[in-house]
Amino acid sequence: MCGIVAYIGHREACPIIIKGLKRLEYRGYDSAGVALLNGDLNVYKKKGKVSDLQAFIGDKDTHSHIGMGHTRWATHGEPNDSNAHPHYSSSGRIAIIHNGIIENYASLKTLLQSKGFTFYSDTDTEVFINLIEDIQNENNCTLEEAVRLALHEVVGAYAIVVLSKEEPNQLIAARKGSPLVIGVGKDEFFLASDATPIIEYTNEVVYVNDYEIVVIKDGKLNIKTREDVPTTPYIQTLQIELDSIEKGGYEHFMLKEIFEQPRSIHDSMRGRLVAASNHLVLGGFLEFEKKFVKAKRIIIVACGTSWHAGLVAEYLIEDLARIPVEVEYASEFRYRNPIIKEGDIVIAISQSGETADTLAAIELAKSKGATIFGICNVVGSSIARASDAGAYTHAGPEIGVASTKAFTAQVTALTLLAMMIGSKRGTIEDSKLRQLMIELENIPAKVEKALELNDKIVEISEEFKDAPNCLYLGRGYNFPVALEGALKLKEISYIHAEGYPAAEMKHGPIALIDENMPVVVIATRDSSYEKIVSNIQEVKARKGRIIAIVTEGDQVIPAMAEYVIEVPETSEILTPLVSVIPLQLLSYHIAVMRGCNVDQPRNLAKSVTVE
Ligand code: GLU
Repeated sequence: MCGIVAYIGHREACPIIIKGLKRLEYRGYDSAGVALLNGDLNVYKKKGKVSDLQAFIGDKDTHSHIGMGHTRWATHGEPNDSNAHPHYSSSGRIAIIHNGIIENYASLKTLLQSKGFTFYSDTDTEVFINLIEDIQNENNCTLEEAVRLALHEVVGAYAIVVLSKEEPNQLIAARKGSPLVIGVGKDEFFLASDATPIIEYTNEVVYVNDYEIVVIKDGKLNIKTREDVPTTPYIQTLQIELDSIEKGGYEHFMLKEIFEQPRSIHDSMRGRLVAASNHLVLGGFLEFEKKFVKAKRIIIVACGTSWHAGLVAEYLIEDLARIPVEVEYASEFRYRNPIIKEGDIVIAISQSGETADTLAAIELAKSKGATIFGICNVVGSSIARASDAGAYTHAGPEIGVASTKAFTAQVTALTLLAMMIGSKRGTIEDSKLRQLMIELENIPAKVEKALELNDKIVEISEEFKDAPNCLYLGRGYNFPVALEGALKLKEISYIHAEGYPAAEMKHGPIALIDENMPVVVIATRDSSYEKIVSNIQEVKARKGRIIAIVTEGDQVIPAMAEYVIEVPETSEILTPLVSVIPLQLLSYHIAVMRGCNVDQPRNLAKSVTVE
């Protein structure tokens, strides 16, 4: 979590940093701060949003060409002014911004306190900067050398930037486990947690690797390993358009991203699927074709919404490719002793490609000999780089903290993957494959149609916006959709919601149902339709308030449900791509009506780079 930005060059640093922090605010918004070098090293920081920081800075003199900024998602110490970054060292000579967690901060702090260091915050980060200062004092060395030595002492994850007023033309950065991108401009450099603060100025970027130290000094960029061995920066050209990271007339990023789905789903199929010419190719899969064909088992690791996409993939892969699939929470997977055998493939799913738990699960699986296939949205991200092969979802930048278009793009990419494995293993008939290809190509148009439900969903939201609880039920392919619908509602409206396989309801949750309980049932016409109709009856018999998502033209359920939302018909296995749309809209509108900050829900951050 947390976003970091830094600038060194010929422009005024502060406006660039503030604008960059706004772009990164989705990563954390507990507090924000900047440090600017101009003879002196000045830090301005404030609890709250970047706009609060801006107001605090007001018309203070911020003239400087070197600076750094941070927007925090607190891990150590509550969100307040003193825990906000940047943090000075005890002497005030150097300052740091940090994304990540220093796990051995407590023992280091005790040691530093015994040496007379004073601490003004509760953060692990302040320990880091004082450690650097201590090393510099003891060794009488340059800041670069002190940072390098400090990296050998800290345990945990970090992307840091450090400034010193004694070495004023220099910016030092390093990473391990947390993302860091360098933007390479003409006589200027940018550093950030992702490319969004950079692309306005340059699309030439370098992704910093773990254990690398970046030194930008006198207009030159040098990257070294922690062992002080120089490496050659690999400059890539990014293809992100600026308007893709702006709201474009929508009130919130989340709404924009919900409405972008016809395009983002199309983009995730682009070049991979052309039904008319029977073209179905997933580049990353080809590298792995033999392994997939022979795979005995597939394990999917993910967190949050990506985990729900993984559950959809379980149904897809088992249906189409007949390989047993297990879907694991990355955080649980890594803390037991998972059995991974030769021939197992691990699919890791993460929008940001930086999810710390998923990354750690990958490392564990790799150490046990598994082959890793990554499904990520952010190009060049850590998971993409840690995977043996994979597929990008190409949904475009997702800024809203509650994931929407990334989910449908993940499901699309996983559908293509399941179809490819099935076709190569011969477990899917050609005619069925062709029919699915045609249907999948039609999904963007069907999603477009589902989005026309927006006005109706506003009405329904009005009715249920004050509900304290909500139950979501689905079966088969719509079970993960029920989980996802409940998660969306929880995340942004703070209404307690539970998703259940509809048949499980009678084993417990049915006790919750009374005349006040809204029950969202995803009951599209599929192989379990009759069964879910019975489940709706069970809810109705207990006076639950039913909101049913049904297939267009359904004649049965409207007679039982209080509200009916009709979505276009599609093949059963593609249903999640369509049935999730009204649930995203429902949670969005309810949250707006409750006055919640949809794009920046409390306590959450977009990219969970802490474990
Ligand atoms: N651990 C640091 C803190 O609590 C940084 C957290 C972050 O990545 O935002 O301040």
